[in-house]
Amino acid sequence: MTQVFDEGRRAELAANLQQVRERIVRACAAAGRPPDEVTLTAVTKTYPASDVLLLAGLGVTDVGENRDQDASGKAAQVRAAGVRLRWHFVGQLQRNKAKSVCAYADVVESVDSLRLVTALDRAAVAAARDEPLEVLVQVSLDGDPARGGVIGDDLWRVSDAVASSEGLRLGGLMAVAPLGEDPGRAFARLADVAGQLAVAHPGATTVSAGMSGDLEAAIRHGATHVRIGTSLLGMRNSLR
Ligand SMILES: *Cc1c(COP(=O)(O)O)cnc(C)c1O
Repeated sequence: MTQVFDEGRRAELAANLQQVRERIVRACAAAGRPPDEVTLTAVTKTYPASDVLLLAGLGVTDVGENRDQDASGKAAQVRAAGVRLRWHFVGQLQRNKAKSVCAYADVVESVDSLRLVTALDRAAVAAARDEPLEVLVQVSLDGDPARGGVIGDDLWRVSDAVASSEGLRLGGLMAVAPLGEDPGRAFARLADVAGQLAVAHPGATTVSAGMSGDLEAAIRHGATHVRIGTSLLGMRNSLR
């Protein structure tokens, strides 16, 4: 029985993955960009470790999670199965979770305060990682701090702090398109900020933008990473 179920789920994920990959290839072609410039991050939040393993078997290399409570156990199960993936933490993160996240995450995409930078740096140094923890600064595109992300000059304060941290590496930016605005316009603003950041910090070239509903707009405006949940795994039951 389990075997039958797994095969069904594998086929479903394979078909969804192919569609998402085709969307990425088409969007890159339309933007005149080589498709290998865009990395697919499968956002597996609310879905089990078995799905993560199936996606890994289908060639997915990067996965995203937004809650430490769920992600730490899933990452442990995947590791126990002998599968190595790049884990991206994409949710709002409390400082008291920095140590836990640091134990499995390769990238924390949702950094938007100096206090979080300090906590992550301390955790990364204490963990004596092989490589620094990669950090993306989350940019608010709607000016609403409740939805996460830095506003205005905080971008420079936070990114400079990451860049000068011993345990962290500044990878670039992350953003979520605002509700109720054309995502293309918002991602154009993000591209502008990303250009400025890459001048100040030449290694910080990652632009994580675009989800199931707006990956084409994100790729048109320079996204290097798209974070796809629903189109790959299906509708989530919760609002997360
Ligand atoms: C859930 C989530 C995604 C994936 O969204 P979908 O619309 O399901 O593709 C991407 N980024 C973040 C930060 C998320 O929380």
